[in-house]
Amino acid sequence: MSKILISGGNGFLGSYLCEKALSNNFEVTVVDNLSTSKERQVPKEVKFVKKPIEKFSTNERFDFVVHLAARPSPEDYIKNPLATIDSNDIGTRNMLEIARKSNGVFMYTSTSEVYGDPKILPIPETYFGYVNPNGIRSCYDESKRFSEALIKAYERQYGLDVRIQRPFNVYGPRIREDGFYGRVIPRFIDQALRNEPLTVHGDGKQTRSFLYQSDWVAATWKLLMNGKAKGEVLNIGNYKEISVLELAKLIIKKTGSKSKIVHLPPREEDPKRRAADITQARKILNWEPKVSLDEGLESTINWLKEKKNL
Ligand code: UDP
Repeated sequence: MSKILISGGNGFLGSYLCEKALSNNFEVTVVDNLSTSKERQVPKEVKFVKKPIEKFSTNERFDFVVHLAARPSPEDYIKNPLATIDSNDIGTRNMLEIARKSNGVFMYTSTSEVYGDPKILPIPETYFGYVNPNGIRSCYDESKRFSEALIKAYERQYGLDVRIQRPFNVYGPRIREDGFYGRVIPRFIDQALRNEPLTVHGDGKQTRSFLYQSDWVAATWKLLMNGKAKGEVLNIGNYKEISVLELAKLIIKKTGSKSKIVHLPPREEDPKRRAADITQARKILNWEPKVSLDEGLESTINWLKEKKNL
């Protein structure tokens, strides 16, 4: 039986990855401090260690080590800059050491934020980014960039099998839905279902490309299992862009809401556009997104309605 260690495995994406690993007969261990999730949401077969990854140590060996623990919501990480950095410096180093001692495969979920406010769209992996090293978002984007450097150092110095993905705005059921957390899709759906104004930052012309959770799981599993992915750094995202204003209108329509749209001041250093060039993922993993934004929103809206008993 293969063994997998997943940091942040109880979060929105981690919980799906645990299910995927269990369904492939893996023994799954999760280390999670519940910093972004409210309660345990992984099946009972999962071995669960409630700890920040930077405080975790073990002599156990794993075939696969996945470092997913992160605080990806801008509103959250701006409030918790040091904890955000710790999961990407000490946390990444800890997970790399476990992979090295295990002689296992190491996979890291970096982020599309490593590109900062990109000057090329859609963004290929070869673009080095346009990032403010000491700006308000640097605790997240620079620490993710540092993690990538650390991982590549382990590959160069120890020959470790490392794989890095850069996910682009993944969404779907189980994403933290309370307004406090602030990711745009769950927040807009939540506001629309309560018939409250949808809060668009700035003029709403900024764009994102959104990826549904099942497409992320499919890509992640291929990245882990496919030997051709060894050493690769791959965008895992969508190439279709939508503006935040269009997204707000679409969610109002799809929920049949009476909500209006209000404009709030723009977020500081909010990237103006973001869309993934997935040529490499297509080629190496034979993967591309299958779920349209329409279908993905539909199931996310239904999940949230059910959760709220609507
Ligand atoms: N956004 C918004 N209103 C909100 C929350 C987010 O207009 O209540 C915008 C935000 O300014 C950004 C986009 O939605 O341009 C995506 O924000 P999110 O926090 O989901 O993630 P990001 O891609 O910025 O990391």
